[in-house]
Amino acid sequence: MDEFPVSLSEVVCLGASFALSGICYYLYRKSRTTVDMLHDAPHFNIDGKLKDILKVTPGACLKYAVIEGSVQPLEEPLMSHYQKESVGVLQKFMLREHRRVWNGLSRTWTDSERVLHERVNIVPFGLVGPDETTVEVLCPLQASGVHMEMTHQKFHQATSSLGDLLGQYLSGEKLKGQLETEDMLKVGTILTGVGELVLDTDGTLSLRPPSNGADYILSITDFDTLLGEHKSTASWWKTLAIVFALAGAAVVLWVGRSYYNQLKVRWELERERRQFERLRDEGRRVEAAATGPDAPQDAAEERIENTCVICLTQQRDCILLDCGHVCCCYQCYQALPQPRCPICRQMINRVVPLYHM
Ligand SMILES: [Zn+2]
Ligand SMILES: [Zn+2]
Repeated sequence: MDEFPVSLSEVVCLGASFALSGICYYLYRKSRTTVDMLHDAPHFNIDGKLKDILKVTPGACLKYAVIEGSVQPLEEPLMSHYQKESVGVLQKFMLREHRRVWNGLSRTWTDSERVLHERVNIVPFGLVGPDETTVEVLCPLQASGVHMEMTHQKFHQATSSLGDLLGQYLSGEKLKGQLETEDMLKVGTILTGVGELVLDTDGTLSLRPPSNGADYILSITDFDTLLGEHKSTASWWKTLAIVFALAGAAVVLWVGRSYYNQLKVRWELERERRQFERLRDEGRRVEAAATGPDAPQDAAEERIENTCVICLTQQRDCILLDCGHVCCCYQCYQALPQPRCPICRQMINRVVPLYHM
């Protein structure tokens, strides 16, 4: 049997579709787990009752809970360097360099970005409820979710001399400029926090990254919006996983179909060969009965005249129809790249064995 008819491009398509589908499915499962956990997480108001609830909870700890409160610093807050009135508890400066790089493959200039400098300042802070009860927020840098807002953004355009420009064109890299940003989590922001709620022995309440590996979230959006966003992310991953799986299945079907078609052609040839051999053997029996044991003397000469025009060794033993030419042996007929008569190029519709009487 010949090798399995799968081309390299089909293998690559198949591998890529199933790999992407697997990755999307993994991400879907991950975001689905977050959605389920958010769904089941209990909500608490930040007030005096929260401590009482935690006191009676085993280990004084709630593994995954949702709270909402106003951001208040526990020490001297941070001042924005650019907006005098903005004070915050988290501050992030970034300086990014923007370049245009020549892409030889697509023959276009593409944007590229590089972080030149990053600095994060942080002061301890908590979420405060209406009755001034405070839950300290631990490790806020580990939290996902949008919780900072931009307080400054400035783009410094690069100035280039003629010589610089020439050098940039030759090197394939153009400096566009530098983007300077400042993001802050401002004091007074209403923040939704999802994580592990703990009551320490000294009576302080704190929110920290969950020890069970669940998502630690701090977000300026309210809980329902947050849940909706996670749900839509999960359904996006699900859709992508299904699309890639379907693409993979389509490739499998395609390969299977072409393999089946090849098998069908092979079966057809095999069936034809058996039928031909049966007819030929029958013919030979009749021939032997008619001529008897004394074969004609000029048989050898006749054999040389009757050799196949393709292989020049075997006897011509088939009639190609509809043209009727007798020019080749059956093996050579089956090996023809196209079913056309080697003498007159007419299509061969049927082949029958040739009998010598
Ligand atoms: Zn031949
Ligand atoms: Zn012919």
